[in-house]
Amino acid sequence: MRTVRFILYALCASALVGIGALVFMLKSHPTVEFPQPLQQKSANGLRTLFLGTSSMAWTDGQTTWLVDGFFSRQPLSKVALTRLNVDNSQVRAVAAAMFKRLNMPSVLGGIVVAHSHYDHSMDAPFLAKEYGAKVVGSESTSQIAKGQDLPSTQIEVLQGGGQVKFGEFEVRLIQSAHAPTGFTGGFNTKPVFLPAHALQFKEGISYSFVVSHPGLGPGPFALIQPSAGFVEGQNKGFSVKHVFLGMGGLGKLSYAYIENYWREMVLVPGATHVYLIHWDDFTQPLMKQGEPLALKPMPKLLDDFPRSLELLKMFSERDGVSLHVLNSWEMVYF
Ligand SMILES: [Zn+2]
Repeated sequence: MRTVRFILYALCASALVGIGALVFMLKSHPTVEFPQPLQQKSANGLRTLFLGTSSMAWTDGQTTWLVDGFFSRQPLSKVALTRLNVDNSQVRAVAAAMFKRLNMPSVLGGIVVAHSHYDHSMDAPFLAKEYGAKVVGSESTSQIAKGQDLPSTQIEVLQGGGQVKFGEFEVRLIQSAHAPTGFTGGFNTKPVFLPAHALQFKEGISYSFVVSHPGLGPGPFALIQPSAGFVEGQNKGFSVKHVFLGMGGLGKLSYAYIENYWREMVLVPGATHVYLIHWDDFTQPLMKQGEPLALKPMPKLLDDFPRSLELLKMFSERDGVSLHVLNSWEMVYF
């Protein structure tokens, strides 16, 4: 009997140590040295404000539109142990600070959603209702919008890809792929009602976005790759100067994968400026008590940001491409 009790105590103690170690690892973030912020303002007024993950607010001084707009960024304990809901007050606070930084009225022309995982899609329907936008994305994303009662007139499905106009901006959705992280695949075939567990948000289709604006000439000027996946040949036939390159999960993938990803996303479209996005731990908030916060990389247990950054830096030097780690609340001018 005494032996059984001892074994039980030993098992409990090692389980507690294991949980403690796991929590510690999930709370330790690698350090990141941010480069000098980009400051060169442009006369044409075209700019984008980076807001963590692949959330970005784009404007030309007339029309403002979003990629994703995921601002709730619930803490890890909530993501792991509870069902999630939009954090209305946090989303409103971030959106208010965003419009202020952009120096634009609180109106959105549209929201394109990269894919249907919660860290891309969850807040978009709420933002669409608040600021009068439509949500554009896959059928799976439309089910998330329906689950939040967004009227069908504010939902546009471009399942296999397509084009959408926000004011003078033209955004082309190209069917792409998610980073092979083990959390991919599946479709939302019914409305996703909130609260919902993070794993209920199935990927659906992953898109790349190609952005054009007549103020910068007839062709596209920017490619946004929210997730670190690619379809070979997806970017053939156009060129862009700027690439916003998603890094989520990249640090755990092979050298060959990372090099191929760089080639498909940067070298094929002939980009000269690369900005790194979706490298941050999205269980950390963008603001605290009204003050903007800097981003932290994903914990090493989930991703290896220092490794992927080192490799991308090496490729950028080899290929003569400028590389910039975007911090939250940082503006890029075109
Ligand atoms: Zn995802």
